[in-house]
Amino acid sequence: MSESIAGSPGSGTTAETVIIGAGPAGLFQIFELGLLGINAHLIDSLAQVGGQCTELYPDKPIYDIPALPICGAQELVDRLLEQAKPFHATFHLGQEVTELQPLANGKFHVATSLGTRLTAGAVVIAAGVGSFQPRRLALPGVEDFEGNSVHYRVKSAGDFHGRDLLICGGGDSALDWTVALCGKARSLTLVHRRAEFRAAPATVARMRELVAAGKMQFVEGHATALKTDGGALCGAVVQANDGRTLEVAAEQVLAFYGLHPKLGPVAEWGLELERKALKVDTEKFQTSVPGIFAIGDISTYPGKKKLILSGFHEAALAAFGIQHHLFPEKRQFLQYTTTSPIMQKRLGVSGESATAADSH
Ligand SMILES: Cc1cc2nc3c(=O)[nH]c(=O)nc-3n(C[C@H](O)[C@H](O)[C@H](O)COP(=O)(O)OP(=O)(O)OC[C@H]3O[C@@H](n4cnc5c(N)ncnc54)[C@H](O)[C@@H]3O)c2cc1C
Repeated sequence: MSESIAGSPGSGTTAETVIIGAGPAGLFQIFELGLLGINAHLIDSLAQVGGQCTELYPDKPIYDIPALPICGAQELVDRLLEQAKPFHATFHLGQEVTELQPLANGKFHVATSLGTRLTAGAVVIAAGVGSFQPRRLALPGVEDFEGNSVHYRVKSAGDFHGRDLLICGGGDSALDWTVALCGKARSLTLVHRRAEFRAAPATVARMRELVAAGKMQFVEGHATALKTDGGALCGAVVQANDGRTLEVAAEQVLAFYGLHPKLGPVAEWGLELERKALKVDTEKFQTSVPGIFAIGDISTYPGKKKLILSGFHEAALAAFGIQHHLFPEKRQFLQYTTTSPIMQKRLGVSGESATAADSH
């Protein structure tokens, strides 16, 4: 991705627009704003762009994108990024927007879980079904160990070298890390509730080879309790499907139970909600707070359909609403990309030069 990754903790950057959510709606919003000469910073709690398409069904084909009879979900995201490229949006990934507050000067304060701070002229909430959170290990006392001994993603693989490691789950992440860390961890136990895995067959086969070679153990079952020694995690009790109750060594636990969306902070920003979605008008897709817009799955209005193409339409109209909000004196008129020199200049497909009067 050519776009810059910015936002050192504590920096207070000024942005014309901040887009919250990098799903298909948020990505297309960059493009629609860019055509009008408005720059955007885009924030997502996930480490990569694409929202539900990338997180939930990257390999599935989509059949209802106009003019693309069949398009893979990840392919759609890649195409949206490519289309938005001329507008050099700044991406702040792997950080949840936790604060959104109107300021006295009509702008908005936006802050993230990593400490990125932005002042925005307008905000577009394209938060879909909410920010994706890892499904937690449902064991008594687990909260005491989360972040130090119980993890839902690998920040540094080296943290598990030489340790007794328990991995829970049966998807790609669980199997990939099992194979990668076997031989590096002091001991490794994989626990999954059934014998079938939702992971690449080659990785599953490799895991079974490692079990057969005595390099790790696999238990079909589920963890029921954590064991501690002097306050430190040392093991887990595992209920095997064959009726045995086992105690396995576990100084560190990696649990990969997938992600689930949580509306989270969006519900706390004082915006009018209807059934966990933000109420908007259908002219500008503005929320109950002027200057804050909402598009895609997070928005609701009479007749709303949660489809990708609805998000695209909403992004186009929201861009005009944002332009009016930021530059109320500017006369608005519709231009076609086929014939507009200024839009072609912005797209980088024409040698025509834009004059200062053309900006915005
Ligand atoms: C299995 C499946 C198949 C589907 N097939 C189709 C199909 O064929 N055709 C179709 O039109 N639609 C389909 N959909 C629906 C489609 O994926 C959604 O309508 C679309 O993804 C909505 O896009 P969005 O940009 O509004 O939100 P999302 O894709 O949900 O993206 C929202 C993003 O916002 C981020 N976010 C949320 N809150 C915060 C926060 N506070 N801070 C930072 N980031 C935040 C999330 O992490 C997420 O990345 C399908 C959905 C599923 C689950």
